[in-house]
Amino acid sequence: MDFSSKLLENAVHEMSQLPGIGKRTALRLVLHLLKQPNGQTMRLASALEDLRNSVKFCSRCHNISDVEVCEICSNPKRDDQVVCVVEDIRDVMAIENTGQYNGLYHVLGGKISPMEGVGPQELTISSLVKKAKEGDIKELIFALSSTMEGDTTNFYIYKQLEGLDIKTSTIARGISIGDELEYADEVTLGRSILNRIPFENSLKTN
Ligand SMILES: [Zn+2]
Repeated sequence: MDFSSKLLENAVHEMSQLPGIGKRTALRLVLHLLKQPNGQTMRLASALEDLRNSVKFCSRCHNISDVEVCEICSNPKRDDQVVCVVEDIRDVMAIENTGQYNGLYHVLGGKISPMEGVGPQELTISSLVKKAKEGDIKELIFALSSTMEGDTTNFYIYKQLEGLDIKTSTIARGISIGDELEYADEVTLGRSILNRIPFENSLKTN
């Protein structure tokens, strides 16, 4: 792609680093931003800057939060002995939307994926295991998507908890959340949490 301006080329290059955005789409977006009133584009730029500079993660569940301990973790009405293990904030939002879950979350920040160079130490697994060993957890619900990476991650955590008196369960198979949220409506997702099955049973079906 030949650009008449280095400034334009640079902006397009940065935009095209986003997932799913090719060079053509990046150019379209950049030209769109250029047509917007100046204030609009500046608000976008400063929102991103603020997010990047000031974002915090809850010290208990690792979800994105503006405060040290997030609203979910600090809510005394929630059952703090039940913890739902999810990949990222999208899963938390999807499950919260069902209105069917009253426990807490643990946000892993991804899934174990040797192909993408993501090992257990890149995720927040050790902090989850620590919480479990301290006896703070009665039940752990695995709610990762049922992909190979999701299964590997579930199993890795499950093995780490061996010998601890913790009930482990998993949401019904075939329900994917997060990325595939549009395929799982709130009712289905809510039902799959209520009708969760013991984790051991999910292993037998593999
Ligand atoms: Zn939290």
